[in-house]
Amino acid sequence: MELDGNALAGDLAEVFTAEMTSARFTCAGCRHADAVATLRVWNRAPGAVARCPNCGDVILTLVRTPARLVLTLTGTARLDLPL
Ligand SMILES: [Zn+2]
Repeated sequence: MELDGNALAGDLAEVFTAEMTSARFTCAGCRHADAVATLRVWNRAPGAVARCPNCGDVILTLVRTPARLVLTLTGTARLDLPL
């Protein structure tokens, strides 16, 4: 089931102090820029996978274990956070 970037709000709030769903990402693949809330999210894997709504490239992955939260931002060229 596909969700939007709002599904990541709780997990991202544990990593960043800024409101992350209104932060803007820039896709490393196609340079599309938009709010994190617009990402296409699948969270039925061992973690969450968020893809660019324009090209489908993976923007970020987020995996939670009992002791750690691992955030990978390989597909993110830029993250613009509100203060
Ligand atoms: Zn893209």
